[in-house]
Amino acid sequence: MRLQKPVFIGSEIYRNSTYGKNHPLAVPRVSSTTDLCRALGWLSHANFAEAPMATEAQVARFHDPAYLAALREAEETQAVSDDVKNRYHIGAFNNPVYPEIFRRPMTSAGGILLAARLTEDGGIVYCPGGGTHHGRRDRASGFCYLNDPVLGILGWLDAGISPVVYVDIDAHHGDGVQDAFADDDRVLTISVHQQNIWPHTGAAEDRAGGAARNFPVPAGLNDTEMRYLLHEAILPLVAAHRPQAVFLQCGADALEEDPLSRLALSNNAHWEVVRALRDFCPRLIVTGGGGYNPWTVARCWAGVWAALNDFAVPDTLPEAAEAVLRGLHYNRAAGRNPPAHWFTTLRDAPREGMVRPEIRLLAANALEEVFG
Ligand SMILES: [Zn+2]
Repeated sequence: MRLQKPVFIGSEIYRNSTYGKNHPLAVPRVSSTTDLCRALGWLSHANFAEAPMATEAQVARFHDPAYLAALREAEETQAVSDDVKNRYHIGAFNNPVYPEIFRRPMTSAGGILLAARLTEDGGIVYCPGGGTHHGRRDRASGFCYLNDPVLGILGWLDAGISPVVYVDIDAHHGDGVQDAFADDDRVLTISVHQQNIWPHTGAAEDRAGGAARNFPVPAGLNDTEMRYLLHEAILPLVAAHRPQAVFLQCGADALEEDPLSRLALSNNAHWEVVRALRDFCPRLIVTGGGGYNPWTVARCWAGVWAALNDFAVPDTLPEAAEAVLRGLHYNRAAGRNPPAHWFTTLRDAPREGMVRPEIRLLAANALEEVFG
């Protein structure tokens, strides 16, 4: 049965779960987003579902069972051998061993698999805890242990739903998803990301055998430029592929206040992308992704839920919502003296600007061979 209204999939596994106090993922994100949505009256029994933990058999649809066993063991013992560290990058390269290292990614995966199932006959599901786009079949990468977008898209494909378009507006290239579906003409992956930053892939000319389009954008990307890419490249590409389903990875690290990128979007840009894709095809899953400033993430992702539902975003937040934002802590410099609007509003001031020639060129190149 088609979902009548968007469903928010969350979990308490994310609350107080941290990758360690000096890691960018020390900050709360899903719990604060959920609390903010509740404080605004945007969640109820009718539109909220608990993410179940996926089983190892389900996740083995993409991931190596031996790698899953190593993750499980890392959670049990809270330690890894050098062999496991080298082979699976668990406990290495910014992928620390942390208390929920197995249950948390398995819950994100379970949430996405539930989302794919709930949308089989159509509808919209939002999983702010998902979006781990760097995860590899048998290796942790870029703070990601599993690749829940890949698992969700496979869920759709296995149910006979294709073609699928994956759109990724995280500041980093969606390398794990692109590589998983390279040469697969059932899935088009589109990624907008800052050029010349980790993982240093996703060049404009990299099309993964035709299954990908990449938009490596310069530092300072503004709202006007994002809107230009959306209307001049992304939406035409999506339309040309006539998808049965769209998967949107909505990382919040392309926003101006994020510490890990130099892009300069306001959260209006994210909400515009969400609204534009929302009515484009019968099925939509939206996830979170990166995002390392706790206020930026919570405000952006709560607004994503509003955009999916056409909820009105108040100019000034009610007391209960402000209290959620005032309760957040951040041990980086930006956390010492946060500006008042991080507490009192959801919507950023727009960051409009010039559309630079390199942005126009990226859009034009991406459409070549589609309409040419
Ligand atoms: Zn990112």
